[in-house]
Amino acid sequence: MPSPAPTVLWFRRDLRLADNPALVEAVGEARATGGDVVGLYVLDPALWASAGPVRQAYLARSLRALAASTGGRLVVRHGDPRSVLPRVCAETGARSVHVAASYEPYGRRRDDAVEAGLAAADVTLRRTGSPYAVAPGRVLTRGGTPFQVFTPFRTAWLEHGWRAPAPLPDDVAWAALASDGLPDAPDPGAELPAAGEAAAHDRWQAFLADGLADYPTDRDRPDLAGTSHLSPALKWGEIHPRTLLADLAAAVRSGAVPDEAAATYRSELAWREFHADVLFHHPGAAQRSLRAVVPEDAWATGAAEERLLAAWREGRTGYPMVDAGMRQLLATGWMHNRVRMIVASFLVKDLHVRWQRGAEHFMARLVDGDVSQNQLNWQWVAGTGRDAAPYFRIFNPVTQGVKFDPDGEYVRRWVPELRGLAGKAAHEPWKAPGNAPGYPERIVDHATERKVSLEDFAHGRS
Ligand code: FAD
Repeated sequence: MPSPAPTVLWFRRDLRLADNPALVEAVGEARATGGDVVGLYVLDPALWASAGPVRQAYLARSLRALAASTGGRLVVRHGDPRSVLPRVCAETGARSVHVAASYEPYGRRRDDAVEAGLAAADVTLRRTGSPYAVAPGRVLTRGGTPFQVFTPFRTAWLEHGWRAPAPLPDDVAWAALASDGLPDAPDPGAELPAAGEAAAHDRWQAFLADGLADYPTDRDRPDLAGTSHLSPALKWGEIHPRTLLADLAAAVRSGAVPDEAAATYRSELAWREFHADVLFHHPGAAQRSLRAVVPEDAWATGAAEERLLAAWREGRTGYPMVDAGMRQLLATGWMHNRVRMIVASFLVKDLHVRWQRGAEHFMARLVDGDVSQNQLNWQWVAGTGRDAAPYFRIFNPVTQGVKFDPDGEYVRRWVPELRGLAGKAAHEPWKAPGNAPGYPERIVDHATERKVSLEDFAHGRS
């Protein structure tokens, strides 16, 4: 008698076994039919190329961890999912493919095409869950329209609520199938955090125990380890936000953390859900401003733009807070959120370079680079998003530095040329000539460029 056909679990941005509803569905179906589960990852050349060496290296490590937790049964196939999925199903006789739904533009197009291709062979693509606590598109105003503004979205999102984490299935019968093998991890040229589901849980538990209580006060301080560093794990789905939300609620119930700390962290997760929701409703926001705020001729162009962009990318603008952030990004593939806002504001409003150029560099270097979070946060800083910081709110890189890195420790850590300057003096090296040898002069004058931006904004509105 032929053995029962397996079912396929196609991993994408959900590189974990715990709290994985699509896995629960796949296992349930396999048990009902007596088949086993093909744990499949498709190395899509289009996504691989756009990931850049930092995310490629992280992904390769995360896949290695996932392969280990499937007892070495993870099947990796290289190629376009539109052709790989039908091939795997034809090879194994599988009648269904389980996934967590994708919501970003590329993932939606890919899944629709895969679904159609599979349907032609009488195979069903089954979507269960998503990378979010509440799937994008679900939280709507009372009038049934998408939210434009974060705070009411968050209120409605909290009211909507989310499911409890999905149970971890025991003894999954992973199918043995030929694999093209794990991708070679390129040299990321940066020191990356540990990848994989176990590392994500360890990081989260350590933060719950030691970081969360102080999160409301420390989260804006790049000189302190005040945030959870979970963004790469969330980006790759090594841990699900629902797990985090359930643990937050439990920590409050047990009295381990104050309600305010949990609420502040929950609110940051709500930003992640909001940006995914905005991109779902406005897929064009990945490339285009949701609204224009300055005239087209306000932007730097040609050689001047390239020169400014190069100084910004390499962390040699002469503004310590900007340069520290850009060098932290190059060295680690990550940058503190406060500093991301400062460097983004500086690029758009001091250097007059379009946000898309900055977003492109971030996507090339960030280990947590994610199209919805990156593009929408850039639009927020640039003032071009729906619910964005007003364009006239222009970060002053010096006062931001003094406020959020009061002893200058963050800037001295990433910009060694500033190590001869004590305390907050490191934020204004031009006041102590000769004490920061090798550190560049300021490429622009912030006060002057601020005025230029405000004039551009006034013209943009007239
Ligand atoms: P924590 O402070 O511990 O926050 C916990 C989680 O909440 C984060 O992991 C993240 O998932 C979410 N979160 C926190 N802040 C934000 C925010 N502003 N927007 C959305 N979600 C948030 N985040 C990405 O994950 N990928 C990106 O590509 C990305 N690009 C950004 C670009 C710019 C210009 C800016 C200003 C922010 C960007 N962010 C991005 C958001 C934020 O900077 C990072 O999520 C955060 O720094 C990650 O560090 P953490 O995990 O220690 O955060």
